[in-house]
Amino acid sequence: MKIYEYQAKKLFSTYGIPVERHILCYTLEDVRQAYIQLDTEAVVIKAQVLTGGRGKAGGIKLVKNETELLTQASSILQMKIKNIPVNKVLISEAVQIVSEYYLSFTIDRNNKSVVLIFSSEGGMDIEEVAHNTPERIQRFCIDPTIGIPLFLANRVAFLLFNNIEQVRQGADIIQKLYTLFIESDASLTEINPLVLTHEGRLLAIDAKITFDDNALFRHPAIQLLHEPTEEEKKEVYAKSQGFNYIHLGGEVGCMVNGAGLAMATLDMIKLYGGNPANFLDIGGSSNPRKVVEAMKLLLSDGRVKVILINIFGGITRCDDIASGLLQAFEQLQTSLPVVIRLAGTNEKEARNLLRNSSFYITETMNEATQMAVRLSL
Ligand code: GDP
Ligand code: MN
Repeated sequence: MKIYEYQAKKLFSTYGIPVERHILCYTLEDVRQAYIQLDTEAVVIKAQVLTGGRGKAGGIKLVKNETELLTQASSILQMKIKNIPVNKVLISEAVQIVSEYYLSFTIDRNNKSVVLIFSSEGGMDIEEVAHNTPERIQRFCIDPTIGIPLFLANRVAFLLFNNIEQVRQGADIIQKLYTLFIESDASLTEINPLVLTHEGRLLAIDAKITFDDNALFRHPAIQLLHEPTEEEKKEVYAKSQGFNYIHLGGEVGCMVNGAGLAMATLDMIKLYGGNPANFLDIGGSSNPRKVVEAMKLLLSDGRVKVILINIFGGITRCDDIASGLLQAFEQLQTSLPVVIRLAGTNEKEARNLLRNSSFYITETMNEATQMAVRLSL
């Protein structure tokens, strides 16, 4: 699970890692108020999105006065970064940067240990540094039985800083970042950049934390930090209704019984040049209520152009499923074409039942997927 920079900075503060003064804003009015509250001339506007490379995408702007702030904040609040709409920004007190460092803890699976990664060339170009001059990025494996006692933190800090005051601050930050990593079951705690300011202070001006999903049950407070996307909300809702739904983004809405058949259906849609809108396994029942709920999910996806229903009747008989579908569609209003393929027990009876409906009735999976793809183009 990823969290926003503003959330990560809050955790940093709890652990005593110094960050610059900042205020989270959702609207231009919030931004205006934040500027008054920060009571400083130069501030940095920072788009809050769960993706890296914001600086390069134009999502980070240093501004010197209120007019500039409002113009830039308004444009950042309307932008998309890697297709994610920005709906909140952080307004931070601008700091005068002398140099930028990189510092992170993550898991090194080859060494089966936590690794500290650090560099004196932090900042937006860290990927290029790693690619072109990998020797400028150093790694230090952590023995879990000793962690990072002060002598080790100092050893690393001496490699980064040549002033004793900064070594002290740096070692302290390294220890705290490690404690946060371990105590929160993180898979990444990263500061890029950690900056040395004009006044000789070290500050984390960016903060990134990823948590191990499998350990989240141990951290109810961290779970609360998760802000689900619209698609995730649908997935959670689907689960509560007893089926598995995963949004995929294409045009062919699929309703299938059984996960294996659902996967095969997605493959065939792709094979015929279409794009599935979703994975949806409604399980083994013809219950019309369930069909209605599942269909509502599909119909709420604006990109869906056709519905493909692919059902294999085993213990659940096809004619039961057919009557279930007829009942369900009586309640649903949709002008979308619906392609149905029913195979298995009593399939002929099922097709007879559906004969006078507006559905496109097919016999094979080939026929059904081809037709659905054609209708989706
Ligand atoms: P990222 O691109 O998403 O990693 O965003 P960061 O928060 O790391 O910011 C990108 C870059 O913006 C930093 O590496 C700094 O060079 C610059 N920056 C961020 N905050 C400040 C600030 O307060 N003052 C100055 N001068 N530069 C800043
Ligand atoms: Mn950064």
